[in-house]
Amino acid sequence: MRKIDLHTHTTASDGIYTPRGLIDLARQNGLIALAITDHDTVDGLPEAMEYASSVGFRVFPGVEFSIEYDTGSFHLIGFNLDFKNQRLRNTVRELAEHRGARAYRIIDDLKKHGIDLPVEEVLAAAAGGAMGRPHVARVMVNHGYAPTIRDIFQKYLVKGKPGYVKKVRIEFEDAVSVIKESGGIPVIAHPVSLECADLGEFESLLKGFVAAGVEGLEAYASMHTPEMAAEYLALAKKYGLLVTGGSDFHGDKDETIGNYNKDCPVPFELLDALDAYIAKKG
Ligand code: AMP
Ligand code: FE
Ligand code: FE
Ligand code: ZN
Repeated sequence: MRKIDLHTHTTASDGIYTPRGLIDLARQNGLIALAITDHDTVDGLPEAMEYASSVGFRVFPGVEFSIEYDTGSFHLIGFNLDFKNQRLRNTVRELAEHRGARAYRIIDDLKKHGIDLPVEEVLAAAAGGAMGRPHVARVMVNHGYAPTIRDIFQKYLVKGKPGYVKKVRIEFEDAVSVIKESGGIPVIAHPVSLECADLGEFESLLKGFVAAGVEGLEAYASMHTPEMAAEYLALAKKYGLLVTGGSDFHGDKDETIGNYNKDCPVPFELLDALDAYIAKKG
């Protein structure tokens, strides 16, 4: 069976595989295409695109923005964009600066709670990439504060716990406009993370997103059951949205590349629909 994965992370943000390493892993697992969607950065894309073309593999260049919104926060993927676009580069540079500063504040807050992490280890964990909580979490695991990353995220780094520092996020309208200006397709990532009470509530939000320029919905998202995927698929159809799907692969959370949920492959047909959509956009 031919496989694809349209939501993945590399060492450019908080994934553990380099862009090349991720492509190698994808090929070894029988995938024929990937979208690379690092958090708030496009720094992994030059290496990814160059390596992909040298081995005859398809990579859709993307980005995953953490969005500030009146009712909370969520993730917006910019799909198939021109990562050389100057406005996009300025945007991600600013976000990277905020992420770097936040890491120091996280370390300070942990210190107040008696957890003394060596700054240089956290910096080394991010290795110059877009700094995020998983980098801090990995150092905490190494120092024995909990056995796994997931356990760390239960006790630390989240709202109300030691080491929580709110991220400076890009505004929704800015993100949509920078994605479109770079020729990309704005797609709502893992809609379940909007934490709506029910599908009806999500639908009313979605109407607003569509009016503001969102063009796609990640129906086959990690942590969606097949039943949930079917519900989001129906909503996407109702609003004429592009459907995407992926594992949100980071490499250290038991994910399977190419599967949006355990034993649930990302449907291969999404690739044809995506190609058709991109062709139509011109
Ligand atoms: P940040 O963008 O720095 O706020 O970090 C968010 C990232 O942390 C997500 O993209 C995930 O990679 C990771 N993350 C968030 N919550 C959890 C969790 N409960 N378990 C494991 N990883 C998590
Ligand atoms: Fe992440
Ligand atoms: Fe996400
Ligand atoms: Zn992601």
